[in-house]
Amino acid sequence: MDHPCVQHKLAIIRDVETGHKRFRELATEITKFLCYEALQNIPTKDITVTTPVGEAKARKIATDLVVVPILRAGVGMLDGILELVPTARVGFVGLFRDEATKQPMTYYERFPPQIKGGTCFVVDPMVATGGSTVAALDLLKTNGADNIVVICIVTCPEGLARVNEAHPDVAVYTAAIDERLDERKYIVPGLGDAGDRLFGTPH
Ligand code: URA
Repeated sequence: MDHPCVQHKLAIIRDVETGHKRFRELATEITKFLCYEALQNIPTKDITVTTPVGEAKARKIATDLVVVPILRAGVGMLDGILELVPTARVGFVGLFRDEATKQPMTYYERFPPQIKGGTCFVVDPMVATGGSTVAALDLLKTNGADNIVVICIVTCPEGLARVNEAHPDVAVYTAAIDERLDERKYIVPGLGDAGDRLFGTPH
């Protein structure tokens, strides 16, 4: 999303001098813009409302919305979405990396039944290798979700390619597609460890 308001906030959230309080606020603000853009394509239904002076043709959102943060950093994007769609339901996915196999393993999953038939927003600030995103999408689809979008703050070509290859039906909304991954699988230039920066833990 190339909007100047998003890019301005992205410039500040990337800055190594930005502390965790401001980082958290910016993650919320950027997510709100990204979510607004992603909501552009959700189903609506035509209705008629009676105003004090007549009948107006109107439209209402016609789908259940479910936000699914990937623990832990995805939680930093939850408030932004809930400010925009306060009635959204929330599911969670917790993943850790099995150091032997290097594969993401699920340690927590809890989804509202509305993932079936509704629209799901998987949120994670950084889609780096794409491994966690693909695992979360696999899990959601196994549980019956078939209409999913991903919202992240920063991604890179490798992560996007992996998500797109495994789930070509899933659109990814992002504020930036950065250059590459480094040897630790951090996005370069990225914004560092999003979880640590959000929650003020040492890195
Ligand atoms: N996760 C992060 O928090 N940052 C990266 O750059 C990559 C993965």
